[in-house]
Amino acid sequence: MSMIDHTHDQAARSFVASANGHADFPIQNLPLGIFAPQGGTARAGIAIGEMILDLDAVLAAGLLDGAAEEMAAAAEGGALNEALALGAGPRRALRHALFALLSEGSPEAARVPHMLHAAADCTLLLPARIGDYSDFYAGIQHATNVGALFRPDTPLLPNYKHVPIGYHGRASSVVPSGTDFRRPHGQRKPATETAPSFGPSRNLDYELELGIWIGPGNALGEPIPIAQAADHVAGFCLLNDWSARDIQGWEYQPLGPFLAKSFCTTVSPWIITPEAMAPFRAPQPPRPEGDPRPMDHLWDEADQAGGALDLDLEAWLETPGLAAKGLPAHRLTRGTALALYWTPAQLVAHHASGGCNLQPGDLLGTGTISTAEPEGWGSLLEITRGGRQPVTLPSGEVRRFLEDGDTVVLGARARREGFAGIGFGACRGGVTG
Ligand code: MN
Repeated sequence: MSMIDHTHDQAARSFVASANGHADFPIQNLPLGIFAPQGGTARAGIAIGEMILDLDAVLAAGLLDGAAEEMAAAAEGGALNEALALGAGPRRALRHALFALLSEGSPEAARVPHMLHAAADCTLLLPARIGDYSDFYAGIQHATNVGALFRPDTPLLPNYKHVPIGYHGRASSVVPSGTDFRRPHGQRKPATETAPSFGPSRNLDYELELGIWIGPGNALGEPIPIAQAADHVAGFCLLNDWSARDIQGWEYQPLGPFLAKSFCTTVSPWIITPEAMAPFRAPQPPRPEGDPRPMDHLWDEADQAGGALDLDLEAWLETPGLAAKGLPAHRLTRGTALALYWTPAQLVAHHASGGCNLQPGDLLGTGTISTAEPEGWGSLLEITRGGRQPVTLPSGEVRRFLEDGDTVVLGARARREGFAGIGFGACRGGVTG
């Protein structure tokens, strides 16, 4: 587990003025990403306040040495896969070097300003070439809410509390925040219709999830022991697993979701490192009385003691009607990552337990995160009870599911007394017709 050190000092300040008190990217965060400045090519960067530090330029200027230099060199080329593969040591060394470089009173401060770009003028890209993307179902309240729509008496299937449920998703259609997508077409067969038909999804939904970026990974056939699983997590992001519920309901049996999920998945572009999240780790909440203890290959005392993420999560809806009336975005969800039934390490260990090789830059989704309270439900499927109880917005608009022109924005904030809070930055996507 990551350690607390001087880079987590609440009093630390940067000479990049916008970083100080920044809700997402103060100097205590320093997330990694890939960006393109206006008219420039894709390169590695670090978010600092309202600016992005060009990591390639820092490297070229000779401002790094040792493992930090090795990490920055591996980050060249417009994708972070090789850097993520280096694991925690070089990642922490780079964090420490950049913390020193960007700190108030840094002796190199005068050399840095021309390496900074206003984030508003840059394009944020995917941080890695995603070889594989898998999505779990670790939000037990979400699984319960969805299961109850079909099986009110036994919402959870018998396997749920024993095995982290997941499926292999589609990597090619993972897009960075800010990318709009077209409403998917597919086969639909609602109970009210006698025959299936092909056409645009009528029940388009969002799913509020966290993404887990894989670091070093494992060789084919060599599982990752649970005690080492956290070493293979390179960081976290927000993930919106857009879902066409009507297509899903018709196609998913017996093999699971296919076209209902593969048309688009949106991630926030910054990789929030385990080092940045160190102050915000928490014990995995104890399982309710009577739930099975995780099997040995998923049980680690240190992971149980500090492997969960204490992270506030939100989902916001922007609509044409709200915009036309000058009204703010409508908050759909306010929840917490502590509602996950499995830790990130358990998801990694489980994924590799059969011998599947995880590779640097692979992406895992946690599954939709919903809390016990309705305000924390992480999809419209739950909020509107399958579309039966529509939401009326302050604009007067009514939503069962998403309409063309709607945009969903996910956000995440970590806070703890005595530490500078950090955020993940936005995970935004809009649906077009
Ligand atoms: Mn999902």
